[in-house]
Amino acid sequence: MTGVNRRDVVMGTAGFLIFSLLPVSKAQAAQLLDVRMWPAPEYTRITLEHDVPMRFKYSVIRNGNPIRMVVDVEGLKLTDKLKQLVAKTQPNDPYVSGITASQLNSKTVRLVISFKTEIDPQVFSLKPFGEYKYRLVFDIYPAVQKDPIMALIQKEESEPDAIEKLLAQVAEGQQRMEENRLEAEHDSIGELIAGISSGTVVPMKPEDVGPSKPAPKAPASKKDSGKPATTVTKKKPSTPKRTVRERVLVVMIDPGHGGEDPGAVGRRYRTHEKTVVLSIAKILAAELNRTRGFKALLTRDRDYFVPLNRRVQKARAAKADFFVSIHADAWIKASARGSSIFALNTRGRVSSQNRWLAKNQNNADLIGGVNVTTKDKRIAKILLDMSFSAQVSDSLVYGKKILTELSKINKLHKSHVEQANFAVLKAPDIPSVLVETAFLSNPEEERKLRTRTFQRKLACAIGNGILKSFGRTGTLG
Ligand SMILES: [Zn+2]
Repeated sequence: MTGVNRRDVVMGTAGFLIFSLLPVSKAQAAQLLDVRMWPAPEYTRITLEHDVPMRFKYSVIRNGNPIRMVVDVEGLKLTDKLKQLVAKTQPNDPYVSGITASQLNSKTVRLVISFKTEIDPQVFSLKPFGEYKYRLVFDIYPAVQKDPIMALIQKEESEPDAIEKLLAQVAEGQQRMEENRLEAEHDSIGELIAGISSGTVVPMKPEDVGPSKPAPKAPASKKDSGKPATTVTKKKPSTPKRTVRERVLVVMIDPGHGGEDPGAVGRRYRTHEKTVVLSIAKILAAELNRTRGFKALLTRDRDYFVPLNRRVQKARAAKADFFVSIHADAWIKASARGSSIFALNTRGRVSSQNRWLAKNQNNADLIGGVNVTTKDKRIAKILLDMSFSAQVSDSLVYGKKILTELSKINKLHKSHVEQANFAVLKAPDIPSVLVETAFLSNPEEERKLRTRTFQRKLACAIGNGILKSFGRTGTLG
């Protein structure tokens, strides 16, 4: 892919800037196949899909009102279809107020994109991949991030000692992992002792039991997610047990795929994985946020693509105690069914099916489309060189607890936690699992996955597994 570094654009903001991207050898007239827009608070993506490579240049006009981006595309004809496509700007788009297309000269179409706020665009092109032909992508980031986690990531990235900070952050995260493990162990021993000495079942607070409990400390406006680890919930003195833990546990829930990347597509109803997993993730987040001592966040809360490493980055920026990526499987054989759980495997033997799965999921970045900068690569390399052994061993333990809960509501595809090299599980300091809820390629499971009832069952099973992992009482459902 060709890319223009976003910083280059930001730094030279004065007036009219022009960047010519790589020239292409073929001078064939391009057909515009589709224009797609994915608006989200984090960023809005505009994708122009075309059949052959095309030349384009763009410029940002910042001294006008509104701020506009002018894109001249060579070898494109202005057709009614093109006009219709560009006219479909969504009124609820947080950043884009409109797009117009006009014929600049016999060879060139000019697109003018108008913005509602100060923006920080990334423009890049993608070669054909999967179902997609050539794509010209405009990722419109706000100059000032409103999303607190994204603002934090942006700030961290711009600091001169970003790498040292990252290393310190990982060390802190690994410490937190250790504390959580010890506390969970302590809690289960405590329960045992309490049970033995009183001769009764360990008492639970009423709000810890049963469905839909309005917990007093229900947090979870995304607003304060910037520093969740400092959020401390003081326990009421009347709490009969658990005198050790005071910290609110942060769970980053990651609905797989999104936007340009639909994920697996169902056989019978053409159900998109990205849609089903978003529903499940939202239910899980709501359930956990109603549970005392938990704060759940989502890597995406609507239909747009989040690159794999940014999902991990978001979990790390939120100082998450646990990361769970939610997916729905697909396999060549329609008979394959059941739930499975994966932890990371950075090396060692991986079954060919799991290798295929990981490759398939890791392709998300190629389907979804990312602009990989040198810095992203460097940070990813540094993180990868770290030890994952503690993370993986915790993930296997937590994964098993979730798998046990899933076995109560669905057949299991495999009865143990599997391991594969999923990019989204690569935080050295956060226990991370990937849940394949069920198979979209199995017509019966596809039908179930579409129902709110089954989505709820899955979400609650995952949530209950998380509660058990951290030695918490209560049941979601
Ligand atoms: Zn998936």
